[in-house]
Amino acid sequence: MTTTERRLPVIEMFGPTLQGEGRVIGLKTMFVRLAGCDYACSWCDTKYAWAPDHLAKSEPLAPAAIVARLEAAAGGCRRVTLSGGNPALHDLGALVAQLKAHGWHTHMETQGSLVPPWLGDLDSATFSPKPPSSGMATDWTALAQGLARCREPDLKVVVFDDADYAYALEVHGRFPQVPLTLQLGNRVGEDTTATLLERLDALADRALSDPRLGDVRVLPQLHVLLWGNRRGV
Ligand code: SF4
Repeated sequence: MTTTERRLPVIEMFGPTLQGEGRVIGLKTMFVRLAGCDYACSWCDTKYAWAPDHLAKSEPLAPAAIVARLEAAAGGCRRVTLSGGNPALHDLGALVAQLKAHGWHTHMETQGSLVPPWLGDLDSATFSPKPPSSGMATDWTALAQGLARCREPDLKVVVFDDADYAYALEVHGRFPQVPLTLQLGNRVGEDTTATLLERLDALADRALSDPRLGDVRVLPQLHVLLWGNRRGV
């Protein structure tokens, strides 16, 4: 089987919806969520993408079949977000090439732990290295290589607590040239819209008065405010 035919484990495809996170927040996009992750973040809101049965629950689809489904559902949308899990686990070179041949703008969401050869073929990517509250450790070398290889990278750090905020400062200090978003951590099952907005207000105040963050965005997860912690939005 050639790489153009090799099937990819798709957990879900949905859209058009609004991108909920990072520098591309609010943009109309389709989503392709691939199975599997090399991390196991304590607060992951997509554990179904890498749970023990994730491969059994995925659908193996060839790149051409993924493009065809996107074309059928897009309704004029020409942006696609490749997400996971960690989509960088897979050989997405053929999929990205076929998407580009059909005129799609290709964006990826990853934690930046892997540097696949096709990363430079994407139009853009959001790198979301994981802060201390996740329980994960950052491979700074891989992150630096991924950012350097990507045509239009941005960084997003989820902030739940003081240690996460300090980590965001470290990320910004290491990569000051890459646009940074502080994203409010979402305590799934605990937070309400009211508590999210209250905590967002506190995070915004902190960033606004912090001279070390001269150029930063502070954002909630837009899709959670609009539609709650649901799959497929
Ligand atoms: S890297 Fe992302 S998908 Fe993987 S466990 Fe962490 S939050 Fe979940």
